Amino acid sequence: MLREVILGKFRGFCAGVDYAVEAVENLLELRGEGARVYVRNKIVHNNHVVENFVRRGVVFVDDISDVPPDSDLVLSAHGSPLGLKEEAEAMGLRVFDAVCPLVSKVHKEAIRDHKAGYTIIYICHTDHVEAKGTMSYVPMHVVEGIGDIEKLDIINDKISVLTQTTLSVDYVEEIIAKLRVKFPQLKTQKKDDICYATQNRQDSIKELSRLADLVLVVGAEISSNSKRLVETAESAGRTSFLIESYLDIRDEWLGGVGTLGITLSASAPEFLLDEILGHLRKTYGDFVITNTHRLDEKISFKPIVLS
Ligand code: SF4
Repeated sequence: MLREVILGKFRGFCAGVDYAVEAVENLLELRGEGARVYVRNKIVHNNHVVENFVRRGVVFVDDISDVPPDSDLVLSAHGSPLGLKEEAEAMGLRVFDAVCPLVSKVHKEAIRDHKAGYTIIYICHTDHVEAKGTMSYVPMHVVEGIGDIEKLDIINDKISVLTQTTLSVDYVEEIIAKLRVKFPQLKTQKKDDICYATQNRQDSIKELSRLADLVLVVGAEISSNSKRLVETAESAGRTSFLIESYLDIRDEWLGGVGTLGITLSASAPEFLLDEILGHLRKTYGDFVITNTHRLDEKISFKPIVLS
């Protein structure tokens, strides 16, 4: 019988998602609700956020050539390939770059290290839109898993390592430790590339995995940070499922579960949690909720200036 639901202390929208969503919200407000605003790629990796904007007149495109001249174009939180913003501006578009400043930080590190003569190793998932953007900045050797390390053939006294912002903290530590064995001169970045939000949410889910019989991650299949949360719970020995909404919850998962852990990925809106709790109450009766309020991460970015 479900007695308790423990929520992730750090959960839901991170500062970068807030920043990107706010940019589109503010642009809709400025141009008038229903105005045609274009966004390259999904603004953040969550279908509920994207569908909400589509209903309000936002058009999502993969290719900037699909955007008519003299339109507003917002670039997504994950960052864009080098030169794309300038190319869009040259096409006569008003471009607002909602790249998360913590993704831009990795771009700047890549440029700085490249100029300083470092060979760069980038730990990432190459099919992710953030990685595609970062890889366009300077030449880099890509490591997607430990198996790639032996293939690296680098002769340089100066080697630095960068990472995608939403990877598994533990897996990246393992990869870097192995890289260091092969390349003792390896330079890491002063401040981790894996962002504070990824780290906090992974720490939270480790705690949930200790306390709960089952852990649900509210997020999306296309979201890297969602998938890493499920993996983190599973690595801690806890069964975990990724759900997009309460509709994905299966009755058989809850059989024998007294304490359920629930968290939201960095791009999952909080209203989904309210719906899930309402559904659970209706189906299983009342239960205690622990960590009702999420902890304040004390990080925010100044909104983009729109004109
Ligand atoms: S997960 Fe981290 S890097 Fe990605 S948008 Fe959020 S704060 Fe920025």
